Amino acid sequence: MFEAIIIFLIIGLIITGILVNPALVKRRRNRLKHRPFPLLWNAIVENNLPIYLLLSPAERKRLQGNIQVFLAEKQFIGCGGLDVTEEMKVIIAAVACLLLLNQRETYFPKLRSILVYPSTYLVKETAYTGNYIVEERRVARLGESWTNDQLVLSWEQVKHDTYNWRDGHNVVLHEFAHQLDQEDGKAEGVPILHRNSDYATWAKVMTEEYQQLCNDIQRGVKTVMNSYGATNPAEFFAVATETFFEKPHQLLKKHPALYEQLQRYYQLDPVQWV
Ligand SMILES: [Zn+2]
Repeated sequence: MFEAIIIFLIIGLIITGILVNPALVKRRRNRLKHRPFPLLWNAIVENNLPIYLLLSPAERKRLQGNIQVFLAEKQFIGCGGLDVTEEMKVIIAAVACLLLLNQRETYFPKLRSILVYPSTYLVKETAYTGNYIVEERRVARLGESWTNDQLVLSWEQVKHDTYNWRDGHNVVLHEFAHQLDQEDGKAEGVPILHRNSDYATWAKVMTEEYQQLCNDIQRGVKTVMNSYGATNPAEFFAVATETFFEKPHQLLKKHPALYEQLQRYYQLDPVQWV
């Protein structure tokens, strides 16, 4: 009995070592990336990601590789009676992996599971209503990203957003941008930047742009970005990401400094995808 436990422990340690050893992880991912991209997956991405055919051949190849790694590493869980199909997984992976197109090799490291509900789902939320009263209520959600390793999506919203690519709203881009923001353990609108010297400019530009959005919303001025971005700096980064990928021309024209920061961070230039 004691020997069996020792053997199981050794096997467990070997498997853990293989899974987390950076050199082995890199080798496994390279193997996955260089596998032929299944024709069915290609057809799914072509039919559901409007900008797929606008990407350069090199970007398309990178996206295909990222999708293969993503689908091999992340677990999908159907909730509320939903059976998560291959098509659903490929569509969610394709949109999420757009954020990694710049050869970011991290693949949302904290994220393990993606919970998919058929449509909006209800969660319990506590809210302070004044006079020292805390009220518990049930609110409808379209998606959310948790720091503990899970992300939740409404399939109905994912579908709606892929069909309406240019409206500046995309729940997958939004929630996965939160994942990037939360990579350092904090959700405060500051993802891990390339160089230490990048943080000062990021803070200056983002603070100014966030303040401007808040002021514009208060004054009833029409904005390129969705008003939800004025909720807090973390939501501002997630909404700015949605706008950067879906309405790049408008963002570049009205907010060139913000566009430039996102362009440097994502190392992509979506205005080229026309
Ligand atoms: Zn959010």
